[in-house]
Amino acid sequence: MNAILDMTLTELSAHMDEGKISSVDATKACLDRIGKTAALNNFLTVCESEALSYAKEADARRKNGEKGVLLGVPVAVKDNISTLGIKTTCASEFLNNYIPPFDAFVVKQLKKAGAVIVGKTNMDEFAMGCTNEHSAFGAVHNVHDTSRVSGGSSGGSANCVAAKQVFASLGSDTGGSIREPASYCGVVGFKPTYSAVSRNGLIAFASSLDQIGPIARTCADALQVLKVISAHDGCDSTSVGLDNLPVNLDGSLKGKKIGVAKQFMSGADSDVLREYKRAIKTVEDMGGEIVEVSIQSFDAALAVYYVLSSAEAASNLSRYDGVKYGRRADGYKDINELYVKSRTQFFGDEVKRRIMIGNYVLSSGYYDAYYVRAAKTRTLIKDEYLRALDVCDALLCPTAPTAAPKIGEEAKPDKTYYSDIYTVPVNIAGLPAVSVPFGKASDGMPIGMQVIGRPYADGDILAIGDCLCNGGGAKC
Ligand code: GLN
Repeated sequence: MNAILDMTLTELSAHMDEGKISSVDATKACLDRIGKTAALNNFLTVCESEALSYAKEADARRKNGEKGVLLGVPVAVKDNISTLGIKTTCASEFLNNYIPPFDAFVVKQLKKAGAVIVGKTNMDEFAMGCTNEHSAFGAVHNVHDTSRVSGGSSGGSANCVAAKQVFASLGSDTGGSIREPASYCGVVGFKPTYSAVSRNGLIAFASSLDQIGPIARTCADALQVLKVISAHDGCDSTSVGLDNLPVNLDGSLKGKKIGVAKQFMSGADSDVLREYKRAIKTVEDMGGEIVEVSIQSFDAALAVYYVLSSAEAASNLSRYDGVKYGRRADGYKDINELYVKSRTQFFGDEVKRRIMIGNYVLSSGYYDAYYVRAAKTRTLIKDEYLRALDVCDALLCPTAPTAAPKIGEEAKPDKTYYSDIYTVPVNIAGLPAVSVPFGKASDGMPIGMQVIGRPYADGDILAIGDCLCNGGGAKC
């Protein structure tokens, strides 16, 4: 493997600053690696010629004296984030040939910063899933053991960073889809505060929960991507942006209060629990103070998430009916048959399951019992996390209850939904959280730990994650 690919994003950028490596060299190395490891199935589209022309442009910009950490750096973008002139399929048969007429805000920001987008990554269809097995274009194979899943739904985005095919990527996270695959693949995955990053051009799953965020090899690299994508955008009415990010991450846990709850001990398998206890000890060894908190709502969050996210998904996905949005089925007699045939033929099973759950919990007679109750419980969960974060700087828990399962092992929805138990409360409460690689399971697969913070403490959370990673984590 080309030595360039062993560098972190920050190292590559420093080498490009010194004129030792060109963006064209780095991009060619990435494209070559993507070609040679194509069986991982990380990419749904590789934009070779566009990438090389962006790289040439970035080299010219650097020659003209322009600076910028992302200038000329090869990155990848999840396939639910719109890219002008480049297919954006959401890993669905419904959008298998959709070519957006505009760039998502985050893509515009990446291009402005001179990042080189080399391709669009595989995912669970419409971002619904925990394993990437619900892609219409096949599962992603985890680079650490190809018989295992990458996690989902941003499976391609996490695995392409772990496989050293690119230096960073963008994923989306509605209930854990950045953090959980990052944990399974041994990389850093960051979900920003709700409203920190514009969703303009992100194809919606559940709009009150969706956030775009970076996946990278280190927290410092993730910070660099976050800086570029977290500007305020008038085209997303929820956008606030982040204007308080640090220049660099401060490498100390001294005096930091880190909250742990006994509820976090339930739910994880013995490997994850062992690493969680080691992470707590690492925090103490590094001068941090462990604070006991209680999260009574821990078990309720999963049910709340699957009611609310499915309700929003059913509504967001009603636009795909074969009339204006998405493919149209052949051989229909009337408009009703056109809807039914198109939706039956082009949505996968998991998406249909979410639409059915969503319409059920929203239907008259059930609305109060399910949707309204979940919405009220959401407020209680959010309040409880914010109260816990009043007495500490961050919460620490595992990212997922296990390391990556085998492909095919989690076919039953109740089993696979359970893997979101640690991640969904963060979206319900709109908080920032990072998953950092921390140790290995007994079979050698990576394990991730999650650091959760107060709204808009995104930079602090990356700094704490960085310390944890350096203090006892696994290098990815
Ligand atoms: N695994 C969760 C789900 O299937 C989260 C998905 C996501 O964050 N996009 O809904």
